[in-house]
Amino acid sequence: MNYKNPVNILIVGDDASADSAVQALDGCNARLRSVGSPLAAMTLIAEFHFDVIICEDSFAPASVEFVINVRTAGIDIPIVLLSDNDNALTDDDTLQAQGVEILPQASLTPELLRRTISYSIATVGRQRLLQSVLDSTDAGIILVNEDGTPAIWNPAFNEMAQFLIGGGPETVEQFAEYAIDFDHPELLLGDRTIERQVSRLPDGITVLVLHDVTERLRSQEERLEADLRVAYLAHHDSLTGLPNRTAFTDRLHAEVRKADLFRSGFWVLNLDLNKFKEVNDVFGHAVGDGLLKELSDCLQGCLKDDEYLARFGGDEFVALQRFDDDDTDIPDLARRLLAAVDRPFTIDGNFVRTGISVGVSVYPDHGAEPEQLLANADSAMYRAKASPHENVSVFDESLDKAIRERRALANDLKDAVAGGELDVFFQPQALVESREIFGYEALARWNHPYLGWVPPDTFIPIAEENGLIIQLGELVLRRACEIAAGWPIPHAIAVNVSAVQIGHTDLPGAVRSALADSGLSADRLELEITETVLIDDPGRALSVLEQLKTIGVSVAMDDFGTGYSSLSSILSFSFDKIKIDRSFVDSIGTNPQAVEIIRAILGLGRNLRFTVIAEGVETEDHVQFLREEGCEEMQGYLIGKPISAEDVRIQIHQSCPDEDTDAPAADTDIDDERNESVSATG
Ligand code: C2E
Ligand code: MG
Ligand code: MG
Repeated sequence: MNYKNPVNILIVGDDASADSAVQALDGCNARLRSVGSPLAAMTLIAEFHFDVIICEDSFAPASVEFVINVRTAGIDIPIVLLSDNDNALTDDDTLQAQGVEILPQASLTPELLRRTISYSIATVGRQRLLQSVLDSTDAGIILVNEDGTPAIWNPAFNEMAQFLIGGGPETVEQFAEYAIDFDHPELLLGDRTIERQVSRLPDGITVLVLHDVTERLRSQEERLEADLRVAYLAHHDSLTGLPNRTAFTDRLHAEVRKADLFRSGFWVLNLDLNKFKEVNDVFGHAVGDGLLKELSDCLQGCLKDDEYLARFGGDEFVALQRFDDDDTDIPDLARRLLAAVDRPFTIDGNFVRTGISVGVSVYPDHGAEPEQLLANADSAMYRAKASPHENVSVFDESLDKAIRERRALANDLKDAVAGGELDVFFQPQALVESREIFGYEALARWNHPYLGWVPPDTFIPIAEENGLIIQLGELVLRRACEIAAGWPIPHAIAVNVSAVQIGHTDLPGAVRSALADSGLSADRLELEITETVLIDDPGRALSVLEQLKTIGVSVAMDDFGTGYSSLSSILSFSFDKIKIDRSFVDSIGTNPQAVEIIRAILGLGRNLRFTVIAEGVETEDHVQFLREEGCEEMQGYLIGKPISAEDVRIQIHQSCPDEDTDAPAADTDIDDERNESVSATG
């Protein structure tokens, strides 16, 4: 046998044994050094590198002590002990535990010595490799012999053991025993979590591997928390914390499945705040948000088990209630929600009163699909919103029909505007004192080929929604100017202007061109705007109103008193005229509060120098009240209903005897017929 690489061998023993080893290793690529005592050997080992130590047993038990000293010094060089006599080695076990190969000198052959050296070097090499692998892993690893003594372990294991037991040579063994026998896959060391794996090898060795999984668990926990947070955000509204549209839709799908399974049903409620846009615009978005938060808390407080509330965005909320035993037309939840918000809210010191309108659809009657149920509840909500008396509306087929009709009407209106089918009627305005007519308000009229007269309260909102109001408004403006320019008496002419026209068109330009083309003097034209104009985009609106004033036309605030901002609106711009809404006039004699408001606005008019005109004057009592309170102008059925241009022409001719009146007398029956059909359709 010949060693591939030169092998450095230290021989510890007397000359005779050194000689026999030299002979045995002759010619096998070994470099030999020999010393006579263990002490000299220790010195050499500290100085030079040796692959193997051959120790002669002649000075036992010093040889055992030598081995222990070598190992205690941390030196793991393989040691081959040549023993004189098997029985002489009293500490055989200790030596074997230290990785010492014992060869009986009596039966020693060169071949045996060489093989043993090779074997010892290879064994220690493998052990060194194993140790360096173990040393470089983060996991704590220990191999434990069958008798429980630790065979090999790494620094990570040692560290864990120190942590638990707190030092001492037995710690490794104690800790290993504790960890092997532990009856849970995880150990807790202080704030660390240690995952343990125990495997038993066929030769009786137990391998214990400990992984510190604290960071992994922490990051898993963090990821889980982040995932939960993302899931929460994806399913909740950030302002109110209520479930959002996604969450509600999921719930709705689940409720449909459940209802099918149990052959039951449920209600879907669509809730919308009344005049929320105005609250937002008048008090600011912070108050609007505050109101939404308070309101959602208030609504949420009404919920019973299994009832569900979500916010879809803006001022739109939706709720769900399963059918209960009381089989009523209107879900009990709707009543509770309405009652809960029927009170003023104080937000940042502002006193805000808003109600809700509720639309209800029923599963399965009003749609098999969640989207259909939501759309139908939404339609029902719009009906509730439009109704002056009901704040809850349950979807029905007629509503479906109404939606389709509204869509058809929008289409027809497009054709009507394009085809010039729209007409303009005129309603007289008179002085209260003398009842003398001084002007007319131009009001759009649509005579639908099949439906007859469609009221402006129906088609104007449609036109505002789809933008047709821009064409329609200009058409009314031009025609009103043209007709008024032809009157023999220079009566004033008032034209209604929508917020859309102010916000999205060059209204001053359109007015200038209508005046120029008709030849109407600017001081005869008055434009009526409602306070919504000032709410949508106050900056732009005020600048447009100023430009209109520069042209020389006057500006009136229409329907005064119906919105939130009435008072602040009239103070923000110097209006020429304020039109008190007919709902106030209608309340004269019945509602003292309305009467006070009329008085207040008349007082304000005297101070701020604007004219006040009362709308909707229908009775002599109204006139008497207005006269007593000093209101100068009025408009209403008592003075005259809106009439066609031709009828106005006749009326004016009749009122000025000097004019050549070949025109027939004004046929009030025609107006009445139109007005009746208007109210019949409305
Ligand atoms: P408005 O500008 O306040 O017009 C007055 C409305 O009150 C008219 O309804 C008129 O017929 C009605 N009215 C007048 N006196 C009385 C009365 O004594 N009793 C009752 N019950 N009603 C009276 P109309 O013509 O149906 O118009 C409704 C609304 O449609 C108008 O209210 C106006 O806001 C809008 N509108 C009409 N034409 C136009 C238009 O050309 N452009 C715009 N943007 N809006 C228009
Ligand atoms: Mg008006
Ligand atoms: Mg009005």
